[in-house]
Amino acid sequence: MGVDYDIVVIGGGSGGLVVAGAAAQLNAKVALVEKDRLGGDCLWYGCVPSKSLIHASRVAYEVKNSQRFGVHTNNYSINFSQAMDHVKNVIAAIEPHDSPQRFEGLGVEVIFGSGKFINSDVFEVNGQKLKARAFVIATGSRPNIPNISGLKETGYLTNEEVFSLTNNPESLAIIGAGPIGCELGQSFHRLGTKVTLINSGSHLLPKEDPEAADVIEKQFLEEGIEIIKNARANKVEKIGNKKHLWANEQEIIVDEILVCTGRSPNVESLNLEAAGVEYDKKGININDKLQTTTNSKIYACGDVIGGYQFTHVASHEAVTIITNALFLPINKVSYDVIPWTTFTDPELARVGLTEAQAKEKYGNNIYVLKQDFSEVDRAQAEGATQGFAKIIVKENGEILGAHLVGKSAGELIHEIVLAMSNNLKVSALSGIHVYPTLSEVNSKAALLLRKRKFSQNKGLQNILSKFFAIRRSLG
Ligand SMILES: Cc1cc2nc3c(=O)[nH]c(=O)nc-3n(C[C@H](O)[C@H](O)[C@H](O)COP(=O)(O)OP(=O)(O)OC[C@H]3O[C@@H](n4cnc5c(N)ncnc54)[C@H](O)[C@@H]3O)c2cc1C
Repeated sequence: MGVDYDIVVIGGGSGGLVVAGAAAQLNAKVALVEKDRLGGDCLWYGCVPSKSLIHASRVAYEVKNSQRFGVHTNNYSINFSQAMDHVKNVIAAIEPHDSPQRFEGLGVEVIFGSGKFINSDVFEVNGQKLKARAFVIATGSRPNIPNISGLKETGYLTNEEVFSLTNNPESLAIIGAGPIGCELGQSFHRLGTKVTLINSGSHLLPKEDPEAADVIEKQFLEEGIEIIKNARANKVEKIGNKKHLWANEQEIIVDEILVCTGRSPNVESLNLEAAGVEYDKKGININDKLQTTTNSKIYACGDVIGGYQFTHVASHEAVTIITNALFLPINKVSYDVIPWTTFTDPELARVGLTEAQAKEKYGNNIYVLKQDFSEVDRAQAEGATQGFAKIIVKENGEILGAHLVGKSAGELIHEIVLAMSNNLKVSALSGIHVYPTLSEVNSKAALLLRKRKFSQNKGLQNILSKFFAIRRSLG
């Protein structure tokens, strides 16, 4: 029996748009079902607005602290609503790239509505039954809301509301100090809000190298952000026009609460049971070809499968799916070299294993090459001396992981990503670099392996000493 579509994509965000657009350009018949607006979290509530707000807040910080460069600004003030206009303008500038018109122009049939599977071959939306050779679920995730007494009644913000504010709250408690909590916390603080970050663990950014996360914490404390660690918010109450929040025994009184406590996959409304697709609270279960484990013609990618919840990972997974779903399921998704960045100031970028993970896997046969930004001349010139590059390598120079915390770390990590993706040894990073640039932090770190090996090689040192002594004696 024939089918109407080669592929039906459910969810028009970072992952779904890549699959739909590429499949249509290959002349496949594609339907894209979206319940809200094309663009997904990244465009409306995630990467784009957060990075735009971060930029505005960074400008505010630079202006406020410009005296150290001899630049004095009079009447320094922040207009929060104009900063938010910048956020809206950036979204508006990027939106056409994700617009229904653009995708329809590529040949995608865009259907707005929230549908459900009625069996493993048919997805129904607005009464229309879509029968396809393959389906892709790319419905993303939503904020996970912890079960805190009084939170719902008191009211709170998540990333879905925070970018619509036109006035910044005077004070803001942020529950959760992962990447979203830290990025937004620093931005709001720099734009004039008194921020308290509540963190259940002992480190901000718990998934990151602790030493790198400490640099961010130090910066936050210097800027005046209050951090409450090892504490869980357990009760919230509205008293008068203030929100009272208790974290362990401590009472925090604020105007607003922002919840940044992880993500939940958007699976509930899809009637996955009818299609025989299994999922748990982390997301849809998939195999290494990104087929759902229990129905090989239904694929899934992006936040809805849990794992690395980033836009570039959703696209990376989408690219794997295109071949598998349209032609033959032969491509395995590779997570060997996945970089990401937390866009605080300084930025914290990472790829590969942490020092602790590398030690666990390879014992003491690893070298940790750590280069501080304070020894990079360009960092001195720009007054951006906090942070370091830490590259973890095997004895033979194979790169296992890298952690950069410092100015533009999110840009600087790519040199290492390229080296890792192409199985280049760390020595590849020590080649010529423009002076003075921040990227010298990578070449200097890479050189440390050679220096360390030389300092451990007493035999070679002796031979060289003798060689130079003889040559001097010969004149
Ligand atoms: C504040 C914040 C900042 C972030 N910053 C970054 C960053 O700097 N860099 C980065 O790489 N990542 C960042 N992320 C993560 C990034 O936004 C996500 O990883 C990415 O959007 C996931 O893509 P996706 O395709 O899985 O989901 P999405 O892009 O969210 O797309 C899912 C789509 O499915 C639709 N949908 C949901 N349910 C249904 C349904 N039942 N039927 C039809 N359609 C449905 C949704 O409306 C949405 O359009 C950030 C996230 C947040 C919250």
